[in-house]
Amino acid sequence: MAEDINEICKDCVKFEKFGKKCHVHWEDKKVCTVKAKNEEEWQEQARMLNTR
Ligand code: SF4
Repeated sequence: MAEDINEICKDCVKFEKFGKKCHVHWEDKKVCTVKAKNEEEWQEQARMLNTR
């Protein structure tokens, strides 16, 4: 086993960008409601975060 990566994080754009520093990441996380499956989804989330 290479690394201890949460199954749900494996195809997430944010995991690619931030790894375990993803702001909602924790070990053994099973469900994520803010997962970004592609760059577009991430950009949308980033926009929301920036306008808060
Ligand atoms: S957004 Fe969710 S799925 Fe994506 S890296 Fe963070 S915790 Fe994992």
